[in-house]
Amino acid sequence: MATAPPDTRVRTDAVVSSSTAADPVVDPTFLTAWDLGPRPGVMVPGEPVAKGSSVLILAPHMDDEVLGCSSFMHEGTTVLYFTDSGRQRYAESQEVLRISGAEGIYFGGADGAMDLASQRSLVGAIEKALNKLKPATVLVPAASHHQDHQAVFLAAQAALRAHESNHRPRRVLVYEGPGTEIASPFRLFNPCLYRILTEEAINHKTRLLDAYGSQSYKAHLSAEVVLAIAAYRGSQVLVPYAEAFEVLREVE
Ligand SMILES: [Zn+2]
Repeated sequence: MATAPPDTRVRTDAVVSSSTAADPVVDPTFLTAWDLGPRPGVMVPGEPVAKGSSVLILAPHMDDEVLGCSSFMHEGTTVLYFTDSGRQRYAESQEVLRISGAEGIYFGGADGAMDLASQRSLVGAIEKALNKLKPATVLVPAASHHQDHQAVFLAAQAALRAHESNHRPRRVLVYEGPGTEIASPFRLFNPCLYRILTEEAINHKTRLLDAYGSQSYKAHLSAEVVLAIAAYRGSQVLVPYAEAFEVLREVE
């Protein structure tokens, strides 16, 4: 009988102990975004909010917070935007924050290239926001087929682990976005929590959506599609409109 081949899936040569690992290299993008110093070619990051916020939304792009969790866009919410998509979209996000009463923090990463940002910098940014804002609820983007969403989703798994020295939000939800239900290398979106969108709430969603005028040419950002998704989610719980979420963790 032939002997089984050695298991080559584990790279023992890549294993290092913490005592021999090199000191971590701090990502300058992370430092710049959080230290709030303007730099050429990159937007001026927003002022982090020191006061206690009840909700933290992790948004890979400026518009994901409106598409996936507009029902959480209100006073007491802070949006951590990861990518810099130019000054116009930045201004649009500022308008969304102004209308909703939410606050924003800007990481300043490259749009479409968050897979090239170091995982350490993304995890560090989320941990910093957690410990500064101490939110009760955190909204994480579904991984989808988009590399920026995947990077933020994966970083959030590490940053939101139950860790003794990090703030531990009681509720962690995953929100849907463009492509969530299309093939993902991770898994498909399988919601179990629905937030009913009243007439006022669906109007709030479309008003915030209108603020992202530069994105209106994209099919998934048309009011027709956004309302159709809200109606689809609503139909699953027999209400006119809803937003749907997965629950990653809930502590009572
Ligand atoms: Zn996005």
